[in-house]
Amino acid sequence: MKILRTQTLRGPNYWSIRRDKLIVMRLDLEDLAEKPSNEIPGFYEGLIDVLPSLVEHYCSPGYRGGFFERVRTGTYMGHIIEHIALELQELAGTPVGFGRTRATSTPGVYNVVFEYVDEQAGRYAGRAAVRLCQSLVDTGTYSKEEFDQDLADLRDLCNNAALGPSTETIVKEAQARNIPWLLLSARAMVQLGYGVHQKRIQATLSSFSGILAVELACDKEGTKTILKDGGIPVPRGTVIQYLDELSAAIEEVGGFPIVIKPLDGNHGRGISIDVKTQQEAEEAYDLASAASKTRSVIVERYYKGSDHRILVINGKVAAVAERIPAHVVGDGRSTIEELIEITNQDPNRGDGHANVLTKITIDKTALNVLGKQGYELTSILPQGAIAYLRATANLSTGGIAVDRTDEIHPENVWIAQRVAKLIGLDIAGIDVVTDDIRKPLKEVDGVIVEVNAAPGFRMHVAPSRGLPRNIAAPVIDMLFPPGTPSRVPILAITGTNGKTTTSRLISHICRQTGKVVGFTTTDGVYIDDYLVEKGDNTGPYSASMILKDPTVEIAVLETARGGILRSGLAFNQCDVGVVLNVAADHLGIGDIDTIEQMAKVKSVVAEVVSAEGYAVLNADDPLTVGMAEKVKGRVAYFSMSPDNPIIHDHIRRGGMAAIYENGYLSILEGEWTLRIEEAVNIPVTMQGMAPFMIANALAACLATFVQGIDIELIRQGVRTFKPSVAQTPGRMNLFDLGHHHALIDYAHNPAGYEAVGGFVGNWSGEKVGVVGGPGDRRDDDLILLGKLSALMFDRIIVKEDNDTRGRRRGEVADLILRGISQENASLRPEVILDETEALEKALSTVSEGGLVVIFPESVTQAIDLVEKHRPLTDNQG
Ligand code: ATP
Ligand code: ATP
Ligand code: MG
Ligand code: MG
Repeated sequence: MKILRTQTLRGPNYWSIRRDKLIVMRLDLEDLAEKPSNEIPGFYEGLIDVLPSLVEHYCSPGYRGGFFERVRTGTYMGHIIEHIALELQELAGTPVGFGRTRATSTPGVYNVVFEYVDEQAGRYAGRAAVRLCQSLVDTGTYSKEEFDQDLADLRDLCNNAALGPSTETIVKEAQARNIPWLLLSARAMVQLGYGVHQKRIQATLSSFSGILAVELACDKEGTKTILKDGGIPVPRGTVIQYLDELSAAIEEVGGFPIVIKPLDGNHGRGISIDVKTQQEAEEAYDLASAASKTRSVIVERYYKGSDHRILVINGKVAAVAERIPAHVVGDGRSTIEELIEITNQDPNRGDGHANVLTKITIDKTALNVLGKQGYELTSILPQGAIAYLRATANLSTGGIAVDRTDEIHPENVWIAQRVAKLIGLDIAGIDVVTDDIRKPLKEVDGVIVEVNAAPGFRMHVAPSRGLPRNIAAPVIDMLFPPGTPSRVPILAITGTNGKTTTSRLISHICRQTGKVVGFTTTDGVYIDDYLVEKGDNTGPYSASMILKDPTVEIAVLETARGGILRSGLAFNQCDVGVVLNVAADHLGIGDIDTIEQMAKVKSVVAEVVSAEGYAVLNADDPLTVGMAEKVKGRVAYFSMSPDNPIIHDHIRRGGMAAIYENGYLSILEGEWTLRIEEAVNIPVTMQGMAPFMIANALAACLATFVQGIDIELIRQGVRTFKPSVAQTPGRMNLFDLGHHHALIDYAHNPAGYEAVGGFVGNWSGEKVGVVGGPGDRRDDDLILLGKLSALMFDRIIVKEDNDTRGRRRGEVADLILRGISQENASLRPEVILDETEALEKALSTVSEGGLVVIFPESVTQAIDLVEKHRPLTDNQG
């Protein structure tokens, strides 16, 4: 077996719209291609042995053990690898369920498709599955060590890549509200929403967290001062920088017991609590001083009580938790060390912040704290007695949290909300020490010891006791108040031909609204009519560039086959999905061999149209019409003919359409015909002479109309859209050379030739074609290009591309010649393989009023050459 290629799909794709995170592994089964599993001795038994949990895979039989039965009775290796890749991820703690295995047109080569949660882990699982199967085939076993290593590696990959726990809760809530999110490439920032509506979070800091507030919260002394000035109870304390100030400071706060901590600490580092003697105080001073960058130490009165965290979001208390330091409870038999081990076996306890709780570690601090209570690790703790291993209650050092949200006294709610406002934080974690949160702080001598910016959510979302609280909801409510948008309209355009032209026209119409339009095409990425990046930008990377842009108000995205196949769409839903046409082109690439498969690729754009959105489909193209049944939103059709039966039927049922009637581009809405403009007044249609351009313009008018753009603005848009040669080189560039005209177009497939033919057919003078074709197309395609040329031109010069794409020089020309003679034997085409020479010849021999049409390999060269022939103007301004 050999893995030929692994692709990672990150959005709606050919295989699935909903399961948008898929690995596609192109696998050559080699000698196993003809060998089903039942013919491989020991395979079935070996697999059960290594992966007994596969019994849960129902597979096609539809019951428990179904997949094993398929293996026993005989199934092929690709299918088995798919199930193993899924199961390995499942065992590593990332449940996944979707898989498909399909033959390609190459015998023995399969596409094995399976879901992933973490993409690195997904790819790893695919490789491990192949390794495992190969070993089972070769030896009947897979070593336990290797298997355990695979799982350990997978877990590592998943843990490293996963979002932090707080970020994840916010992202999940966003997802539940259909707010899109994406991970930005720096500082673990997450973008919620698209374009101009986006907001950002970084852990629990948000776009609304002000720098002044965050810095104030990080300055404990400053925080205390501001709160004290506001009449909020805070610990009595003072800051010192030298040991000889210690005694005076202790006196100042009212004597022992005291707390000593670094001025600029966090996570409980360098803190000593309940310090009772001068000697302890000196030790604590050294500890705190060492932990402080500025060697500044806080001396505070010690307040009895337990630690509480009040979480205030957007001015309101969202949750309250009591935090209890790491501890164990005695059973009268076990030593403290044993009790710790038992406690750590809780599956909820992990390392660091990876899990709901953190494991208790035995270290110097723990021994110290135990010592103060009169215990050692070997002490047997009496039944019910509690031994603490930490003085502070941080979850990250093994503490637990108990929800108290429903118990907090209203006055404390009022205080906490004021505190958040005084500090100025949108999301504030307020640390309170009090004996009883149910009583007003003043009554029980409770104090606010600190205010945290970016507070962790773990203790509220997954408290050890009490109700979990959905605190992501108020965060999202703050970032996206109910009723406000998070998305910008997305208009996505696909099809075999005309995508760029239509995308540009749609953008131009959208621009008439005065909004900032971001659009991507084969020429580049544009925002507000400025070029951001040049090049072929029809994939998800460029689409994300638009969706990430904070100025974009409308996104218009040319969405080509290549990107959809390579990594899926960059968006999981769009408002308008336009499918222009599906024609034979690019077949045989990327395992898309038939035009029906190609239709399925392009159908992805129609299928992601949201329930409130519109799919704009070509009623003159049966494959495009066929997509309608999978559309979740509404459908609108365009057609060149008012008599198209699909349109009739659609209108009768109250649908919306755009048609070409009596020389006008018109919208049909119910019984009404709304005329947009006469084709002769729409420059892109070349005075109405280029029928396919009329079709593109109809699609653009319809797409913008269903998006709610005023018909006046659409009219203004189509009238003023004049793509210059510089803007759209190679797309119907017509040059008026005085004596005759020249047309440069890079049509490169039969449908493109036919389209140009539609225009050429309307030309009254002599028509000379300079034709060729890309060498990587199939023989039949090239022959067809020849036939189509014979139908179009009075005279033909056959040329070839410089790059023959693997064919012998002259081979492409021969095939085109064959096509020409099949169609019209009397035509007598000339062959000049060099493109420049061929074009020169055509331009110098065409008769007055005639038209030379060239389908060039290099558009720029052809344009330069034609312009040398004394261009007066070109039709497109
Ligand atoms: P964290 O990062 O966990 O918030 P920190 O390093 O910022 O910790 P503080 O929040 O100032 O430190 O203190 C940690 C804990 O120590 C408090 O939550 C509280 O339990 C206890 N503590 C701090 N100051 C006092 C005090 N004056 N009286 C009683 N307990 C205190
Ligand atoms: P690409 O796949 O190269 O990005 P595209 O789909 O973006 O192409 P355009 O750049 O708009 O298409 O047009 C390229 C050529 O395709 C045009 O010059 C014309 O020859 C042909 N074409 C454009 N629109 C249509 C159409 N609706 N039907 C058939 N052919 C068309
Ligand atoms: Mg604190
Ligand atoms: Mg294009």
